[in-house]
Amino acid sequence: MFANIIGQDKIKKYFLRAFESGTVPHSILLQGPPGTGKTAFSIDLAKILTCHNNGVKPCGECVSCRKFLKMEHPDVQLFFPVTGTNLDKEKKAEEIQNMRISIVNNPYLVPETEKNATLSIEMVRMIKQSLRLQSYQGKGRVVILLGCDTLNHETGNALLKVLEEPPDKTTLILTTSSLENVLPTIKSRCRLISTSFLTEEQVVNSLIENEKVSEANAEYIAKLSGGNYSLALDTLSDDFPGRKEFAIKLLETILLRKKIDNIEYIEGWLRDKPKISEVKGNLDLLIAILKMKYEEQDSQDSDTGTPGLEEINEKALAKLTPDLVENMVIEIEKFIDLLNKNVYLNLILMNLILRLRKLSQYE
Ligand SMILES: [Zn+2]
Repeated sequence: MFANIIGQDKIKKYFLRAFESGTVPHSILLQGPPGTGKTAFSIDLAKILTCHNNGVKPCGECVSCRKFLKMEHPDVQLFFPVTGTNLDKEKKAEEIQNMRISIVNNPYLVPETEKNATLSIEMVRMIKQSLRLQSYQGKGRVVILLGCDTLNHETGNALLKVLEEPPDKTTLILTTSSLENVLPTIKSRCRLISTSFLTEEQVVNSLIENEKVSEANAEYIAKLSGGNYSLALDTLSDDFPGRKEFAIKLLETILLRKKIDNIEYIEGWLRDKPKISEVKGNLDLLIAILKMKYEEQDSQDSDTGTPGLEEINEKALAKLTPDLVENMVIEIEKFIDLLNKNVYLNLILMNLILRLRKLSQYE
């Protein structure tokens, strides 16, 4: 059980006990930071509750499990917030079904929710309608509602009765990354279960084992993810090797090259007209490198070296004292803050790099 879920051992134990003792709650609210496994838990719980096998669940092979993976299981419903666009209805339905299949098969890669997307009153009506009917397969029935913080008073109220007294063998699973926006009436009717950020080690191990990422790259990505596995997968798919190479070159230029080389480097970078999000992404990576170096100095087994730092010029690394790292991180974070305020990118980026260079010259 829960073989695909990273970490969150307490929750796994809780559900294992609940399955053993037959006390799985009827209405569950999974809350916690993004990318920590709320969707993955919902999917696995639904698979376990509907699997026909008497042994290990989910077996992945019974009729129920197979139907589930294609999202064709009549006793499973999965909803997520969508916008009420004017798209042709059939096309929209097809798009939504494809997203469902993708969520079920890659629960850590949840598609970005559109702005203003909500769980609609039509969805709540569909849920109520279907729960009036008998369960098709006679096992359990599961309704999953991702992003339940988008339920407003009208849709939330329409759902209350079902949450309070779901029909026999029916489990409702709701998730949210912003508990403060969930209606209190919904919260009070559910068993609240909280996921926590993954540790860097958990992210590193999972990237190596499940995504076949090299140890060095896994270290970087884990640092960037801040315990959010969805973000880690996103980073991985976004030309990570190229971005890493760029950040390392930038750091080496700052630490080892003359002022004029730095200016030329930045001018070259700006000529490519980078998007603000790209600049931010590259600087986030630079911060990740600096933090790795900082932690290496801090850790006792520093002679073994951090895999992620091996590709960086030794002379450059030697310059990075704890004080310098700290000051550089402060400068970069100030800059990222400015970036969010719509300032003139070219000018402040040049300023930042020259400041970072200057900081390192006093060491
Ligand atoms: Zn099965």
